[in-house]
Amino acid sequence: MNNNPWIRAKQQLTQAANKLGFDKLLFNMLSEPDRIIQVSLPIKMEDGSIKVFSGFRVQHNNIQGPYKGGLRYHPKVDMDEVKALAFWMSMKNAVVGVPFGGGKGGIAVDPKTLSEKELEKLTRLFARKLFDVIGAYKDVPAPDVNTNPKIMGWIVGEYEKLNTKNKISKGELLAVVTGKPLEIGGSEGRVVATGYGGVQVLLTLLKKLGKSPKALPAGRQGLTVAVMGFGNVGRYVAEYLKKEGFKIVALSDSRGGIYVPGGINDIQGVSKCKEEKGFLSGCYCVGSVCDFKNKEKLNGQDIIKPEDILELPVDILVPSALENVITSQNADKIKAKIILEMANGPTTLEADEILGKKGVTIIPDILANSGGVATSYFEWYQNLHNEHWTEEEVLKKLKEKMEIATDEVYNVSLEYKTTLREAAYIQALKRIEKTWKNQTSR
Ligand code: NAD
Repeated sequence: MNNNPWIRAKQQLTQAANKLGFDKLLFNMLSEPDRIIQVSLPIKMEDGSIKVFSGFRVQHNNIQGPYKGGLRYHPKVDMDEVKALAFWMSMKNAVVGVPFGGGKGGIAVDPKTLSEKELEKLTRLFARKLFDVIGAYKDVPAPDVNTNPKIMGWIVGEYEKLNTKNKISKGELLAVVTGKPLEIGGSEGRVVATGYGGVQVLLTLLKKLGKSPKALPAGRQGLTVAVMGFGNVGRYVAEYLKKEGFKIVALSDSRGGIYVPGGINDIQGVSKCKEEKGFLSGCYCVGSVCDFKNKEKLNGQDIIKPEDILELPVDILVPSALENVITSQNADKIKAKIILEMANGPTTLEADEILGKKGVTIIPDILANSGGVATSYFEWYQNLHNEHWTEEEVLKKLKEKMEIATDEVYNVSLEYKTTLREAAYIQALKRIEKTWKNQTSR
């Protein structure tokens, strides 16, 4: 069993390229990143000690446009993971049809062990070390696991300070990263975009499969859903699914989860509770009433371990945390018939095969979570054109984009008689090949 995400990414590329009859030179170009950057980040901690962290940025490919992808702060960040994530960004940006290539980066650190001052110092040093290789038309980072708009704001600040030699517009300075706070050029709707986009993908596919959240299996209320991970992504997937009539029965984060077979009615209440307590287990809400007390006092709710959520009896499972959580060890025990991959790379290759044989429909990450980067593109565009769109405008454009991308992937899956995952890769490779051939024929 090999769960190395980079090996998996290369296998996914190879399988789709073989099906497509793909150009060999381009295949080799996509088989390795264009550039790998690793930097050392020594900082003085508040207690006077010195700690040295490692920072990474992988620029996979820029055929479609500037490299684009998030920055992740996590102790397990390593080069192979970042290479895979950068590759997936190249594919994702092509699937959703935004003019970006793929990149990804991060720092191997547990940000929860740092004070805010230390986090800011570390981020600003990282920005300085990346200064030469990032920019609105070169490489545009964004938030990912454990990073947020505030962190993006620090990067803009540092970039602006260093950019004294080149005369570039304010919009171009701001467009160095996306996912910024609204006051410094962030886009309305960016915070909810990944979750909202995933829900549009699911709704579009359910229509094609002749299902609706409200057209239910006999005698039941709403297709039931379990969401693993309750951060930037999971929280809004849960909220928008609930609005569309799905029944959210379980939520989890890294420290535990809740399972309420009757349905969790107040997702916003759970979010508020998690914000107050810092973790999910014990945040039980029915209607607008939230009970934050002990397990014994909770009515009909089970507190579960984070990984238990994967095996619950639900219609739809939504992994929204980290990669490699659905493996050959647990794939057989998964009861959901649909998996909406909101996290990047949550399913190992072996698990993919097992689930395929069981007839589970997997909506692949590079389609399901592409609403985030689609809205990052909107933010970048607004910065460069000095525009500001309302949240309503952003979500309307996003819905259209997600529906088009889903239609395209679905049609490719029919044409090539293949899974949605392979279809998404085929669609991405076709688009990249077309752009590349146009560029090389000039
Ligand atoms: P986040 O840090 O805001 O949230 C991650 C959540 O996962 C947290 O609630 C954390 O407690 C939880 N978690 C961690 N380990 C867990 C475990 N073992 N079991 C259950 N929960 C666990 O990160 P995010 O931005 O929400 O990103 C989540 C995933 O979505 C990542 O794979 C990321 O690459 C992907 N993604 C994010 C975006 C975006 O716009 N933020 C866009 C595309 C893809």
